[in-house]
Amino acid sequence: MAKILVTGGAGYIGSHTCLLLLESGYDVVVLDNLSNASEAALRRVQEMTGKTLDLVVGDIRDTSAVRALFAQHSIDSVIHFAGSKAVGESVEQPMAYYDNNVVGTLRLCEVMAEVGCKRIVFSSSATVYGDPDVVPIPETAALRTSNPYGQTKLVIEQMLREIANADPEWRVSLLRYFNPIGAHPSGRIGENPNGIPNNLMPYVTQVAVGKRPHLSVYGNDYSTPDGTGVRDYIHVMDLAAGHIKAVEYLAQHSGADAFNLGTGVGCSVMDVVNTFERVNGVPIPYQIAPRRAGDVASYFADPTKATQLLGWQAKLNLEDMVRDSWAWQSANPNGY
Ligand code: NAD
Ligand code: UDP
Repeated sequence: MAKILVTGGAGYIGSHTCLLLLESGYDVVVLDNLSNASEAALRRVQEMTGKTLDLVVGDIRDTSAVRALFAQHSIDSVIHFAGSKAVGESVEQPMAYYDNNVVGTLRLCEVMAEVGCKRIVFSSSATVYGDPDVVPIPETAALRTSNPYGQTKLVIEQMLREIANADPEWRVSLLRYFNPIGAHPSGRIGENPNGIPNNLMPYVTQVAVGKRPHLSVYGNDYSTPDGTGVRDYIHVMDLAAGHIKAVEYLAQHSGADAFNLGTGVGCSVMDVVNTFERVNGVPIPYQIAPRRAGDVASYFADPTKATQLLGWQAKLNLEDMVRDSWAWQSANPNGY
């Protein structure tokens, strides 16, 4: 079976994808500098699957380390998760974000070109659509973004398309994730944010476990059915499955393509809170707070292209997502 290099494979989405790759019979090599992850995630992935993977602790910008990795392993395709992802931090430290995300991807691609491994699945983000003109959002929507993090995703998308235009041996999948939440249903691996979570679901689970007194609901006067912000939450296991489909697609198809990975269903903040309380039987105290700067009212995917071309569709719903997020947080109140 083919060997896949997973950069950032110790992280939240990466660890779930490694698990599914191993279960699907792939050989897996992870390159992760552990800047935002714990080795424990991959230890658990190996225990859960009964299979082993190779972890190389190193940085995608360290060309000699990446060269050594490719010399040691015959890599078929790369799934590239490694990068920095906090929007607020990117506003404060734009240079660090361009360095880690853009320069990091460039350095990785240089070595890939050198060794003739020219298939890459890239973690893009729905943030490339900015404040969209229409929902559901198709891949053909205008691309615009309002922060350095989003801009790094746009620049990398453009760079990878141009690399594929210049050399038809390159095959590129740009996966635009909507809002990943949830965890493996066993609760053994999950999202482990540093400090106070910015995102809704980890905040909700930390309120549920008693680490935070209440959730602030950022705005209830949006033009949405209940006034709170609407997003397309997608179960991390469905997202992981999308990466396997993308690797399979690249084995058959040349060129560069972008795909939305979302459910196509918009859920409000109050839908998430109410579903969490109902499914898990745990109260989530909340207070209505002012809108958060930069937030848009409603954001969800048109996932038709991924269904038609990748043969992928999200299977899990909001109930599955809140149940599995809670399975992880309640069993691991302090993370790994
Ligand atoms: P994460 O922080 O959990 O995972 C990223 C991993 O990359 C971490 O394990 C980190 O240690 C590693 N890493 C960072 N810089 C590195 C470097 N220079 N060299 C080697 N390893 C490095 O994040 P995640 O939520 O799993 O996200 C994975 C990817 O998906 C990121 O590129 C992110 O921008 C993108 N994405 C995430 C979301 C989300 O909501 N989680 C949404 C859209 C896109
Ligand atoms: N949100 C909230 N309270 C929080 C965190 C988020 O009300 O503590 C809302 C936010 O305004 C948005 C939704 O939850 O409407 C999803 O926010 P998140 O940060 O998870 O994702 P993003 O804004 O990047 O889509």
